[in-house]
Parts: sequence; structure tokens; C-alpha cells
Amino acid sequence: MMAKGVVKICAIITMVLALGAAPVLMTEASAQTRLRPGFNLFSLRDDVEIGRQSAMQIERQYRTYEDPRVTRIGKRLAARSSMPGLPWRFRVIDRSDVNAFALPGGYVYVTSGLLRAVRSEDELAGVLAHEIMHVTLRHGTNQASKAMLAQAPLQILSNQLGSGLGATLARFGIGLGLNSLFLRYSREAETQADVGAVQLMRRAGYNPYGLANFMRTMRGGGGFFSDHPSPANRVERIEEEIRLTGGARRR
Ligand SMILES: [Zn+2]
Repeated sequence: MMAKGVVKICAIITMVLALGAAPVLMTEASAQTRLRPGFNLFSLRDDVEIGRQSAMQIERQYRTYEDPRVTRIGKRLAARSSMPGLPWRFRVIDRSDVNAFALPGGYVYVTSGLLRAVRSEDELAGVLAHEIMHVTLRHGTNQASKAMLAQAPLQILSNQLGSGLGATLARFGIGLGLNSLFLRYSREAETQADVGAVQLMRRAGYNPYGLANFMRTMRGGGGFFSDHPSPANRVERIEEEIRLTGGARRR
């Protein structure tokens, strides 16, 4: 079992927030915000391989199981994402904290603690949509790409990636599993995942207020969230996107 506090996963939980405008987020007056994946040295095939190996590592360390509700909602959302062909896999990880995370390539996990905390299907869909957006915007390998670029010129990186994924990651000290760089996103990435989640929920027929409501509840709650106060503008940005995409019935 890992020491508490060591695991730093997705900001649904860590509540790292977007203060200020993110440059990649361009708001149009009458339409949804356009989202574009950032700089990336990896191929989509690399994403899947990194995710597969990380998943194996995590599932050796923790008990995980399939939950029909999580799988059903996750698959419905993934089918409406920009990458329906990824090997999407949704599992519950047996931990009491309220948390969720996604590995590159489509491996999505929610904790059993989170399953107990959500109050509706729309809230669970909100969490899963947020994680799916991290996958399709390729935030994990974008983060690793930025870290690698800080250590070596692009030319060298291109050659090294050609020589084998595992060796390259090792050379740059990038590990897999739950404490990996692949799960440490920027604030901007969290905002993108929130905004994209609203759009995805709408396409898949879920009420996007599910995401806003869950965020608000967790912000007011105890436990992990009280240690990571979320700037109020995270919920506000989600609600802004709901308005931009045509509004919805508040629940
Ligand atoms: Zn996140």
C-alpha cells in the first residue's frame, strides 16, 4: 500500500485549478470552446502501450474490479469522444479516497470511494467524461513530452523515440504506474478536461450540470478536498461552458 499523500492523481481530486485564461482555450461567442491537443512527441500507439503497461503495474498493486454501471456510462461516453477506437477500459480501484484518473490510451479508473460519493448517473458521467478528455487530449504524453523537451533538443528526442519506448522513458527518468509524470497535469489541462467534459456529456446525452454539481459538493466536503481548496472559478468555468453549449436544466 502506498503512503497516503504520495499518490497525486487527477485533479478531479487534486482540485488544481485554472486561475486565469489558458491560451489554448478559445471561446467563441456562439459556440463551444475549441480544444486542441498540445505538443506531443509520442504516437497514439505509444499512448496505448504506456497505458497498458501502467495499468498492469497498478493492477498488480491494487485490487480493481469491473462495475457494470461504470463500464456502461464510460463506454457510452467514449463512443461519442473523438477517439472511439481506443481500447477503452473502465475499472474501479479499491481505495476509500474520492478519486479518479486516466492513463494514456484509454485506461480509466475511479475509486470505490468516489462511487460511494456520487449521487446520480450524471455526476458519475461528469467524472468519467473529465477523465476521457484527459485521454483524448493526450495530456499524459503531452506532459511527458514537455518534460523531455526541457532536457534535450528536439532532434535528439526524435531519434531516441525511434529506438524504443521503454528505453527512452527510462533514460528520461519517466516511470509508469500511479505516481507517474503521465498523471501529473497542468492547470490548463484540468480546465480543458472540464470544458471538454461538458461538451462530451452533452453529445452523449448526459446533463452537464452533473459535473458542476459534483465539483461543488466535493469542494464543500471534507477529506481530501478540504486539503486542496478549489478556486471557485473551476465550477464557474464549467457552468460557462454549459451556457456556451446551449444551456441545460440545473439539477
Ligand atoms: Zn483531471
